[in-house]
Parts: sequence; C-alpha cells; structure tokens
Amino acid sequence: MLKKIIIANWKMNPLTLKDAERLLVGINKELSKIKKTGIVVCPPFVYLEKLRKLSRKVSFGAQDAFWGETGAFTGEVSASMLAEIGVKYVILGHSERRALGESNETINKKLKAAISAGLSPILCIGENDRDENHEYFNFVKNQLLACINGIPKNLLYKIIIAYEPVWAISTTANRRDASPADAKEMAIFIRKILSDKLGTGMKMPRIIYGGSVNNRDAGEFLTQGGVDGLLVGKASLDVKKFTDIIKIAENEND
Ligand code: PEP
Repeated sequence: MLKKIIIANWKMNPLTLKDAERLLVGINKELSKIKKTGIVVCPPFVYLEKLRKLSRKVSFGAQDAFWGETGAFTGEVSASMLAEIGVKYVILGHSERRALGESNETINKKLKAAISAGLSPILCIGENDRDENHEYFNFVKNQLLACINGIPKNLLYKIIIAYEPVWAISTTANRRDASPADAKEMAIFIRKILSDKLGTGMKMPRIIYGGSVNNRDAGEFLTQGGVDGLLVGKASLDVKKFTDIIKIAENEND
C-alpha cells in the first residue's frame, strides 16, 4: 500500500512571515513520532524559502507555477525557480485559480513545465456541483484528460491527483459535506480513466481527496474514501487540527 500523504494548502495565509513561522514551528513540534506519512506544506510563495529551513519533516510546495522558465512574464514564478530553492511540490489547477480564469490548457502547460523542472505537481480537479444525471462524471473526466493531455505515460505517476469537489470546499457559499463514499466513487472512476489510458504495468498517479477535511472526519476519508492522502485547506491553519490529521494518517500507515 502507498504511504499516505497529507498536504496543507495555506492559500493566501497567514498575513505575516512571523505568523507563518509560528504555524510551521507549531506543526513541526508535533511530528517527532511521524515516520511514515508524507507531509507537505504549501504556503504563499514569499514564505517558502524561509520556512523550508525550519523543518526537515515537512516538504514544501507552492500554490502555482508558471509554464515558462524565465523571460518577459511579469508577476509570474517558474517551476524551475521553485525547484532551485528546494521546493518539491506545486498545486496546479486549484478551483480558486480556475475561478480567476485559469483553463485546462494553461494547467496542462504548467503541469508539463513542473514535471520537467523535477517538481511533483498536485493537480486539482473536481466538479462545481452535482446533477441528477451524473454529468459531473463526464465533467471530471474531461477536466482530467485535458489537463494531462500529451504528458508521456511513463511520467504521469509523478502527478498527485487531488479530487476536490468544489461544492464541498470550506469557502464555497452554501457548501455541503462530501462523504467518504462520494470520494471513493470518484477515486475509482479516476483510477479507471487512468488505467484505460496507461494500460497495465505502468506506475499509477496517487489520488487524494480535499474538501473541508478536518480532524473529525480525516480518519473516515482515509479508511473509507479509497484515497492515498488528503489536501487540507482551512484545518491546515490550525496546529492541533492539522497535526491530528497527520497522526490519524500515520496510524493508517501502520
Ligand atoms: C482546498 O481549497 O484545497 C481545500 C481543501 O480547502 P478546505 O479544506 O478549506 O475546504
């Protein structure tokens, strides 16, 4: 069984570097007994280099990376620049960036650049809502296939696929809870799409779940959700909640 991975998406938080350091140091203190669980923290770009030096247990990720390597792209940060400062992961295609206009085509270019820079991309996919006719399955399939289009089969395993139903994310207006069964059904569906594409004998990408996971339901998602880990937003800004989730994952790894 793959070892579980727990990824924190801090989004545009916290407001100051001091607070970011305090949060990371608090998390780090609780990790002495964690041996098997993969832990990734994705803070805002500006904190990455400082935070990276404060923990050996935690790997770091960015929340976006541009597809060009260097050049006239004002405001952008490239995957190679991130790799250069020791960043290992990058979240791509988060629904909050898609809502700002990011397309599957752009995400596809960013995925390719991230892989060639040696980063592990965390590709977010997920439907905005569910419909009675189950059209959301097609929506997720199209999103996934468009994002991974043209990536060589033998490199696809480098991507971590985060299924994040937008309707379950903590900041979505009138959000609803997704259940571990919802996550499991989609994880099976995504695995089927990937195995149809990859054929047999190829290493498969990991599939994780994200959407308002907290320390009360993390265990259920990990045991019944059919996923290899969790992407945690709001609860990752709370030392106790986030480290409880990591400890739960560690027990599942035993
Ligand atoms: C996210 O937006 O990636 C996320 C998982 O957020 P939350 O846990 O706050 O729903």
